[in-house]
Amino acid sequence: MKRSVTLGGITVDLIRKDIKGTYFRVYPDGRVALSVPRDACTASIERAMSGKREWILRKREEFGRCGGKGPSGPAEGIVPFAGKSYRLKIAEGEGHRTVLLHDGVMELRVSPNSSRRERKEVLLSWYDKRLRRAIMPLIDKWEPVLRVHVLSWDIKHMKTLWGSCNYGTRHIRFNLELVKVRVECLEYIVLHEMVHLLERHHGDAFRGYMDRFMPCWRTYSRELNRSHYEGSGCPMTRLEGGGCDLSP
Ligand SMILES: [Zn+2]
Repeated sequence: MKRSVTLGGITVDLIRKDIKGTYFRVYPDGRVALSVPRDACTASIERAMSGKREWILRKREEFGRCGGKGPSGPAEGIVPFAGKSYRLKIAEGEGHRTVLLHDGVMELRVSPNSSRRERKEVLLSWYDKRLRRAIMPLIDKWEPVLRVHVLSWDIKHMKTLWGSCNYGTRHIRFNLELVKVRVECLEYIVLHEMVHLLERHHGDAFRGYMDRFMPCWRTYSRELNRSHYEGSGCPMTRLEGGGCDLSP
């Protein structure tokens, strides 16, 4: 007999069978199976679950790092957003297609029986919207200060750069992963890319502008280079802080 239950924010497939102990299994796609004796009571199941919670989250992280989640999408676990950690919880409901944040929980609301690909799309589209909303006022803030105009900008998932600026077309591209960093680090990347509209190369002149407009930019740059943010299905390693495409 198998049914899904949510214990401590983690959904598990609970299987009752003729065994004496309780056994956990975490699959590469993030699913968790818990086998218990037929007569196990709720309290003993909850106890077993709370004892194994950290182990389950660690296993899921390990699978995420080695790409074990496959082509799929988000699994319940810890996810970073705007410099904080949230517990990702998947909530199913008719017509649901959004993300809600409350009390340290990121609730991914999706339709019942939605595929992992659909879940990933909902999460990524919400990430995109939130990052767009965070970047827009920062560009507005720095344009008059730097006396530059950003002709266009977009957000893309990039593997090695936090941002890039095309000096010739005045186009700036931001990495979607920036949705996970704190706002100070995001602002550093926005400013960094906008300063490239004044100075293409990372030389003394560039650093001079950065020192003038954001004296502690090196702190943010180091923080970004140290970061290891787990993407939703796409693990990230270190990215170059504000590494840029300087093509004309
Ligand atoms: Zn740069």
